[in-house]
Amino acid sequence: MNRLRTQVGIVGAGPAGLTLGRLLHRAGIEAVVLENRSRDYVEHRIRAGVLEQGTVDLLRELGVSKRMDREGIVHDGIYLQFAGKRHHLPMRELTGRSITIWGQTEIVKDLIVARLADGEPLLFEVDEVAVHDLESERPRITFRHEGEAHELACDVIAGCDGSHGVCRPAIPAGVLSEYSREYPFGWLGILAEAPPSSDELVYTHTPDGFALLSLRSPSLSRSYLQVDHDEDLGAWPDERIWAELQRRTALEGWTLVEGPILEKGVTGMRSHVVEPMRHGNLFLAGDAAHIVPPTGAKGLNLAIHDVRLLGEALVEWYGSGSRALLDAYSETCLRRVWRCEHFSWWMTTMLHRLPGDDPFDLKLQLSQLRHVTTSEAAATMLAENYVGLENV
Ligand SMILES: Cc1cc2nc3c(=O)[nH]c(=O)nc-3n(C[C@H](O)[C@H](O)[C@H](O)COP(=O)(O)OP(=O)(O)OC[C@H]3O[C@@H](n4cnc5c(N)ncnc54)[C@H](O)[C@@H]3O)c2cc1C
Repeated sequence: MNRLRTQVGIVGAGPAGLTLGRLLHRAGIEAVVLENRSRDYVEHRIRAGVLEQGTVDLLRELGVSKRMDREGIVHDGIYLQFAGKRHHLPMRELTGRSITIWGQTEIVKDLIVARLADGEPLLFEVDEVAVHDLESERPRITFRHEGEAHELACDVIAGCDGSHGVCRPAIPAGVLSEYSREYPFGWLGILAEAPPSSDELVYTHTPDGFALLSLRSPSLSRSYLQVDHDEDLGAWPDERIWAELQRRTALEGWTLVEGPILEKGVTGMRSHVVEPMRHGNLFLAGDAAHIVPPTGAKGLNLAIHDVRLLGEALVEWYGSGSRALLDAYSETCLRRVWRCEHFSWWMTTMLHRLPGDDPFDLKLQLSQLRHVTTSEAAATMLAENYVGLENV
């Protein structure tokens, strides 16, 4: 057994783990990042792509925004389409803030390059990761790497290993409260070599279900269709996907541009939160602690927000010896988590075809959509949540 020592052991090299590693490095705090997948895999896992202003600002502060600033696309609004009409929601006009379209994969690539350039430890393809002695002053992570067994002694462990990781399940039974909501639908997402058909994202409500037109770059569009949560992807050849997208987004005088589909997949949707986001010296961040349905574009932004707070708390602790921010970490994070959980649930239930096709539900959805597209107060409520609330 090879015995190693660091200040902060970070499990997971997704956006949360890598951003935390960068924050700590900039503050002179040692960390080791352990990732069970290959570098190639984590750099090509297509996921989120809508960044709140606060996320953009943090990436800038951390010196990993050069490509994002050059190639990211700033959007000042979104469209909501229902009952055959498309309505613009001018988020910047309503809130003073915008969103930036920039893929999670690109953020991950830049954070990996920065960490390796700094010569900071980041190990890919680690196996048998396990966390121990979480309630002690010296929690440990054991793992195998390149055939050798290692033990990493830490002051603190950051569980940034996503919803299927090992950190959350290592917390003893009875400690965590779990809150969940399963949705009986999922999103079929495609990445297509086709220029975006709209200048901003289009969220559509139709009697046949929800669709979203998004993008990754001026030549790559990303689109989603509401499907069953366990939909068989094999039943969706490319022609059927395009035909359904055309049908759900149709608008007179406007055309949806098609192109070769480069990637497609079905993701089930759920809401999930565990409380507290800490056990002893294990701190959970990002998807390891909470999942939101993607309708509000919050998953990635929440993960980054968690580690900003965790980073600040660790800097305070190592700097002044005060554990005040660390002790407040879970409660502070959960305030924003629950705001985003509510917003994501609200957007999801407003825009999707709901189980049972109850006409009462449909009338409520259309009333809500009319309200947010005609009342400035209601539109501002949606917009400020979408761009990211500042003081939550
Ligand atoms: C298919 C899909 C599409 C999504 N689309 C959107 C979207 O459009 N908008 C949006 O806002 N959000 C979206 N999300 C959510 C968003 O991508 C996540 O919220 C975000 O990735 C959270 O970052 P994270 O770092 O907390 O977790 P992750 O990105 O999951 O990173 C966790 C890392 O830990 C690693 N890991 C897991 N187990 C171990 C272990 N035992 N040892 C070491 N490492 C481990 C994983 O390989 C991974 O690299 C999507 C998620 C999925 C799954």
